[in-house]
Amino acid sequence: MPKNKYSKAELNKFQKSIEKKLKSVADDFDDIKDRLDNPNKGNASLAQDSVYSVHMADAGTDSYEREKGFHFMNRESEYYKLLMYALDRIKDGTFGICKICSELIPQERMMEVPNATKCVACKEKEKLNLA
Ligand SMILES: [Zn+2]
Repeated sequence: MPKNKYSKAELNKFQKSIEKKLKSVADDFDDIKDRLDNPNKGNASLAQDSVYSVHMADAGTDSYEREKGFHFMNRESEYYKLLMYALDRIKDGTFGICKICSELIPQERMMEVPNATKCVACKEKEKLNLA
């Protein structure tokens, strides 16, 4: 008989893996935030006018870096949210269960994509319908 739910031990394993992912996202987040908040780190002791000229020379790169940073933060915070939802699903017992066909989503997939809520088959079907 195919099981349609993960055991407590399995859910525990998923939870640990998700928490690890959350931590690494939070760390990345801190790094990038630090860089965005302090774009002139290390130049703080320079006189105001020289900071300005250095800044002008680098303005293009700077704004590009900032933009990249913001994109990264957006993506990361979105991912963070999804991982938090995955933790919620572990708590309420719906984790790893396809919300369309109610089949159990394979463990390897849930390890890799813990925020998945649909099995591959349903996801593919959905894609075809949208196309
Ligand atoms: Zn499904």
